[in-house]
Amino acid sequence: MKGVLKLGSVLGIKIEVHWTFTLLLLWVAFLEIQQGASLDRIFFNEVLILVLFVCVVLHELGHALTARRFNINTQKILLLPVGGVATLDKMPEKPGQELLVAFAGPAVNVLIALLLYFIVPVKSYFNFEALILEEVLYQPTFQNFLFYLFFANVMLVVFNLIPAFPMDGGRVLRALLSFRLGRVVATKIASSIGQGLAILFFILGLFFNPFLILIAFFIFFGAYGENKFVKQNSLLQGHVVKEATLTNISILKPTSTVQEVIEITLAGSEKDFVVVENENIVGIISQKLLVKNARTPSVLVGKIMEKVFHPIDASLAISKVLELIATEKKDFFPVTDKGKIIGAIDRNNISEFILFKTSNS
Ligand SMILES: [Zn+2]
Repeated sequence: MKGVLKLGSVLGIKIEVHWTFTLLLLWVAFLEIQQGASLDRIFFNEVLILVLFVCVVLHELGHALTARRFNINTQKILLLPVGGVATLDKMPEKPGQELLVAFAGPAVNVLIALLLYFIVPVKSYFNFEALILEEVLYQPTFQNFLFYLFFANVMLVVFNLIPAFPMDGGRVLRALLSFRLGRVVATKIASSIGQGLAILFFILGLFFNPFLILIAFFIFFGAYGENKFVKQNSLLQGHVVKEATLTNISILKPTSTVQEVIEITLAGSEKDFVVVENENIVGIISQKLLVKNARTPSVLVGKIMEKVFHPIDASLAISKVLELIATEKKDFFPVTDKGKIIGAIDRNNISEFILFKTSNS
């Protein structure tokens, strides 16, 4: 993704922050300056946000490390002004596992809040009268800092558990519904509720907090996308790669030239090619690679081809290919049957396959 700063990695999971995060810091500073706040207070608030986002990273790590126990990898955790997003390769399909993964994030904030509860005299804050409390909390002291952090972690738990799919609470809801209704129906119901709540967030956001509007969009389109994905996956149940394989493809030799491949590309609609030598697949030529080498038309395919590729057996489930597309960031795979090449499969052809399947139902 463009515009991200890589902060490093924790237990093999990359932590990145999006540039718009700086807007949040600037916005908070701006609000404080507007109210004539002291430098101390501005510093206090900025550090508070940074530490709070450390809590958000820990929350996301809670999801990611629980998912890892079920052999699901997490590529990265991205921090946005509205919160963190952990890019899990997929969600566990067993409802019991999804329940644990969804709860693991908020559970981390419960732990942090509990820890702070024993350090900060939380009760004494609630004994103050409202006006005095406001005054006490205005002071940028270390104790206040911890109190805010406590409060923010409690809010993170409450907010995340709102059943607005795909937020954590919505995932909990989907998992619970899945036990009885199956994943497809459960996702449909959970995403409808999620979209309804998103509209509510949007309206509230117009009046109270612009961040709610951003979150509303995130939920609305997230719910739409996941519902579509689950539906597609269920349509693909029982269908194997062989059914969606492109069999009418041009096979290249390592001794073909770049010019020959350009001519094939222009004459037809193929974009990616398999390179075969003595009946064995030896490489892949993608359109990107071809464009890169277009200035040297006499170069041989064998010199430039991508040698890392993932052949797929014709009997594999098509839904597995969709997972590979997501995890390997590739969308073209040679297809083999008993070790021999019979064609290739790409994202477009799977989309086409789904299109025909949906028109039948
Ligand atoms: Zn979460």
